[in-house]
Parts: sequence; C-alpha cells; structure tokens
Amino acid sequence: MSTYTKEQIANLVDGKLDWDTTLRMLSMPKDSERFQMYVDSLQKKLGWQDRIVLPLGPHLYIVQQAATKKWVTQCDCGHTFCDYRQNWKLHANVYVRDSDEAMDEVYPRLMAPDTQWQVYREYYCPDCGTMHDVEAPTPWYPVIHDFEPDIDAFYADWVKLPVPERAD
Ligand SMILES: [Zn+2]
Repeated sequence: MSTYTKEQIANLVDGKLDWDTTLRMLSMPKDSERFQMYVDSLQKKLGWQDRIVLPLGPHLYIVQQAATKKWVTQCDCGHTFCDYRQNWKLHANVYVRDSDEAMDEVYPRLMAPDTQWQVYREYYCPDCGTMHDVEAPTPWYPVIHDFEPDIDAFYADWVKLPVPERAD
C-alpha cells in the first residue's frame, strides 16, 4: 500500500488534487496522523477560529463554530450555508444549464448532453461565487443530498481521534 509524501499532502491542501483522490487519500488506510496533518494544514491556510471537523470538498467544510460549538457547513470564504445535517445545496446559488445555449458556454456541442434528458446544476457560494458542486441529473430529478457522513464513526473507526464537541 502506498504512502503519501509531504508534497502530495501539500498539493492536497492547495486543492491541486481532484476530490476522488482526496477522499481516497483520507480514507484508505486508517491513518490518524495523515488526517490530522491534512486538517492542521487546512486550518493554518484558512486562519479560522472555527475548527474543521470534516472537509466536504476542495472549498467546503463542516466546521465547529468557535463561539457556539455548533456544527455548520461553511465555504472557505467564511460563508455559512446551514446546519451540517441540512442540505447545503438548498442554501447555495444554483445555475441550471438546461438549454443548448447554456451548455455551449462550457461544453463543446457534440459533447454536451441532450438537455431533454440531462441538465447541469451548478452550486455556488452566494458570497464568493466559488462553485462547490455540479450535478448532472435528468431535469425532473430533485436536488441531490450527496451523503450524510457518519462523522462519529469516521472519527472512531478511521482516524481514531476524539470527535470534536458538538452543540445542537
Ligand atoms: Zn464562499
């Protein structure tokens, strides 16, 4: 099983690795040191009082708010979307590409999906405009709540660290 170098961790923190690789790096072997190293580096880069509980994407985190100890989903600009159990996408700015014209802005015509069958929904931070996710559902499909991570299990079984305090 491969291990990861300091350089790869640095790339990870700089957002130079895609999210699949990131997740694989975080969750493959049970390695508390790596998770701690990753979170520490992110924490330093962001300079927040709020404590990172779990990174959800390159610019999206579940954090423990310093003042309240409540867990919320937060953008790296500091924008708070909602309670961590809610679907942050419902609090994001959404752009739906559901026409040929809108697809043409980003995808070459022959590669673009038929908008009768598939649209692109892009989710943006209302404050800084960072795109946090893209869905490619059929047009009638409801907003997808990706996953509700079992954070207690993640801390207990994978990274073997005490889970941060949580005020409900
Ligand atoms: Zn933002």
